[in-house]
Amino acid sequence: MDKNQYKGIYVFAEQRGGVIQNVAFELIGKASELAEGIKEEVTAILLGYQVEGLAQQLIAAGADKVLVVDDECLKDYITEPYAQAIVHIVNTRKPEIVLIGATTIGRDLGPRLSARLCTGLTADCTSLDIDEDRNLLMTRPAFGGNLMATIICKEHRPQMSTVRPGVMHRKEIDPSRKGEIEKVEVPFDRSKFAVRLIKREVETKNLIDITEANVLISGGRGVGTGDGFDKLRKLAKTINAEVSSSRAMVDAGIMPHERQVGQTGKTVRPDLYFACGISGAIQHLAGMEESDFIIAINKDKFAPIFQVSDMGIVGDVHKIIPILTEKIEALHNKKKA
Ligand SMILES: Cc1cc2nc3c(=O)[nH]c(=O)nc-3n(C[C@H](O)[C@H](O)[C@H](O)COP(=O)(O)OP(=O)(O)OC[C@H]3O[C@@H](n4cnc5c(N)ncnc54)[C@H](O)[C@@H]3O)c2cc1C
Repeated sequence: MDKNQYKGIYVFAEQRGGVIQNVAFELIGKASELAEGIKEEVTAILLGYQVEGLAQQLIAAGADKVLVVDDECLKDYITEPYAQAIVHIVNTRKPEIVLIGATTIGRDLGPRLSARLCTGLTADCTSLDIDEDRNLLMTRPAFGGNLMATIICKEHRPQMSTVRPGVMHRKEIDPSRKGEIEKVEVPFDRSKFAVRLIKREVETKNLIDITEANVLISGGRGVGTGDGFDKLRKLAKTINAEVSSSRAMVDAGIMPHERQVGQTGKTVRPDLYFACGISGAIQHLAGMEESDFIIAINKDKFAPIFQVSDMGIVGDVHKIIPILTEKIEALHNKKKA
């Protein structure tokens, strides 16, 4: 394989219902940083139906070029048409690197692409870099999160990686940024479209996704299975926060998986993260240590969570949370009066 034929960094710009997902902007941010180092361009791949109007958003976020495949078969995500479109783009354009968000869609698409393109895929990366031989250094937790492994794809191109939402930083949006938008015609083999979307049911949710919350109050085993989480919810209400948890409480059936922070849950980066009764296992830290300000409440002063926290309170979470709630409520009432 002549590796020199492969140029540029491509990002799969995932959109759902005409809304570009945050992870696409984050990946474009990271891709721009990597591209600068190897003097290459960032190209976003935008697939969908009647989505061309979204392309400028990707340029404003840092893409130099947007390849748009607009076809009715791409209206909703279905593996086969999406895989055919990207395989066509990769085979005709030969990118050096392809980045995909590790969303449910990206996790379905990535392995399919890597098999069809006969190249490697490193899933769920937490950091990306490029070495002097232009190998993409793809770092991800290994052995249950106990060590970080840096993986390279030396023999094959493109180098492909999925990255979890919330891990990379997006660039500042520049609406005046100029770039090229190109429509690509894909010769779809529709005889291979074995799956049809019959019905779509969107789960109605009243809660904000924890990855979008500015303030998170997270509870662990120390909060317990009694009324501990009700106390956290009460505090959350007073400061307009969302409640999340460690895996221990998801395993205990107290919290749903979508509220789990950590390596096998979600990566969050709120302005303020309360870690209540959470020990600070490496798999939990992997999902929250980038938070701007961390307040840990734990009765064990040697708990590892205190090593990453900006403020630590040693004590019983069942006593401290109600006191905090009371004090904040009193402040609110004072302001109102
Ligand atoms: C492959 C793999 C993936 C994993 N993925 C995740 C993940 O995504 N997210 C995750 O969170 N974990 C994950 N884990 C599990 C992780 O290793 C820990 O087991 C888990 O994070 C522990 O949760 P915890 O801190 O709530 O509980 P514990 O470790 O049991 O800690 C409870 C803490 O509460 C304190 N405490 C007890 N009572 C009180 C009280 N009354 N007041 C104040 N403090 C109190 C204790 O001192 C202790 O520090 C994963 C593990 C593996 C092997």
